[in-house]
Amino acid sequence: MVPASGGVPLPIGGAVYALGVPSKEERRDALKLVYENARGCAKCPEFVATRTQVVFGAGNADADLMFVGEAPGANEDRMGRPFVGQAGMLLDQLLGEVGLERGDVFITNVLLCRPPGNRDPHPVEIDNCQDYLMRELELIEPSVVCTLGNFATKLLRGDHTGITRVHGQSEIRVIGTRAVRLYPLYHPAAALYTPRMLEVLREDFGRIPALLAQGAPEQPVTEEPELVVEPEERALPEPAVPVADQLDLF
Ligand code: URA
Repeated sequence: MVPASGGVPLPIGGAVYALGVPSKEERRDALKLVYENARGCAKCPEFVATRTQVVFGAGNADADLMFVGEAPGANEDRMGRPFVGQAGMLLDQLLGEVGLERGDVFITNVLLCRPPGNRDPHPVEIDNCQDYLMRELELIEPSVVCTLGNFATKLLRGDHTGITRVHGQSEIRVIGTRAVRLYPLYHPAAALYTPRMLEVLREDFGRIPALLAQGAPEQPVTEEPELVVEPEERALPEPAVPVADQLDLF
């Protein structure tokens, strides 16, 4: 394969600083390595002791649209996929109403592990998990990122403004190395039980196609486009559960 990096070999899996723009396959392969590392993550001892598995993001690794939820719940922890419970069904329905399906988007969470008893994420856990989310964003290169609920919105907006004040208002934000159209939305789980919130969520969802049509915002100028495979992404941890189930995630 001739890499899109213009003939410069891009051996994913080593410490690589490639000249040129990484191809979609190169980004997907790098994402798989991030996933392989995340599977064995031991940064939060309470999660290591209580989770069934790490729930990495899933969907189209080349999606223009990415959703960031809060954390896996019991269903997600069991199935190893984000948003597979009732909130996920609502998300599917809302996607369908704007002509999209799961295969068109990438869905992930602020935390990749289920907090026991579905408690709120702790700040240290959000901090521990942040690199995985940043790598997903960097490698998938979405133009629109919808944050679902308070935790994702506060994290990616970088302040404490609550979702009630900012939902449905898109803004261009630089996250990590990339500029995206950040679009905060109510969390589907909250909308499940509050009809007025569901109505607002549906209205906000209705603006997603127009946002996507605007394309990616202008990107910050970097000295040299690069795909960096972090050294720690090279060492694969011992799998805690069989990898086969999750390999088709993206
Ligand atoms: N399921 C998820 O994967 N994330 C949430 O935030 C809620 C339910």
